[in-house]
Amino acid sequence: MRGVVMYSAGDVRVEDRDDPRIIEPTDAIIRLTATCVCGSDLWPYRGVEPADHQVMGHEYVGVVEEIGADVKNVKVGDFVVGSFVISDNTCEICRAGFQSKCVHAEFVAQIGTQAEKARIPYADGTLVATPGHPGPELIPSLLAASDVLGTGWFAAVAAQAGPGKTVAVVGDGAVGLMAVLAAKQLGADRIIAMSRHPERQALARYYGATDIVEERGDAGVAKIKELTNGLGAHSVVEAVGTQESFMQAVGATRGGGHLGYVGVNYDVTIPGIELFFAGIHTLGGPAPVRRFLPDLIDLIWRREIDPGRVFDLTLPLEEAAEAYRAMDERRATKVLLTL
Ligand SMILES: [Zn+2]
Repeated sequence: MRGVVMYSAGDVRVEDRDDPRIIEPTDAIIRLTATCVCGSDLWPYRGVEPADHQVMGHEYVGVVEEIGADVKNVKVGDFVVGSFVISDNTCEICRAGFQSKCVHAEFVAQIGTQAEKARIPYADGTLVATPGHPGPELIPSLLAASDVLGTGWFAAVAAQAGPGKTVAVVGDGAVGLMAVLAAKQLGADRIIAMSRHPERQALARYYGATDIVEERGDAGVAKIKELTNGLGAHSVVEAVGTQESFMQAVGATRGGGHLGYVGVNYDVTIPGIELFFAGIHTLGGPAPVRRFLPDLIDLIWRREIDPGRVFDLTLPLEEAAEAYRAMDERRATKVLLTL
């Protein structure tokens, strides 16, 4: 089969790889219908994370081709969506709704779904079958559910977005935009998107943002306070993962408010004293997308949400190198790869 391999930072190739095989009786093999490049794939691309002949990709939708002897919840021919983290969905951590911290958690990035096929461990716990085979117009939205939508949704839930709340979203990448969509669905009164890019501002408004703040850092915090009678937002989503964005998110949260942080943060140092005096609730980490997948699939299936618009470039898998370049150079927010 064909698949993406990152030889080293900035060097993305598509090459022949061995077809995956069932190893454990709980595995399934899926044939990918579509896959995509994640903002977090740019970390190794830019040399922030090491990359040495690494398979790539952790977002996926596809059709089950083969199942192990113990797989019961999905069958050959099912169209499935899965989380970017493998989970059994039965352990104590999973049952508490934190499937990304499952005792059997494994990052799908290690498997590499920017490929024609993939082996999915713990298929019963990880995969969710859709009600039928989707039309092509639903594929981008279902693919978004695999990570960016599920992650943005978790962030909004972690930030306790809901009726009566003002929500501020730091970050206008795919996850930030999905957090705006989630906040709207969860019934937030006011949604402030922090963005400097006109096209992303427009998409944020499409997904439900009521205000746009272009300022960053301390100026961004001051602007959020100004818009909230000096109090700060009830709910803040951090969807970038830099020192500036994280402290901006902490500063924008009102006393007693909630911060949901899902931007993968390298080298972010949170001064204890600032966190102490902020007096806020915080919850974040790799999103337990699996918790939300059944509901998200249902919303997409009923055409109530349209997260697929977050893909602004579509390329064939063979052109993965260009997909990475386009995202690295911010010519694209998120690239869908067709198979
Ligand atoms: Zn588990």
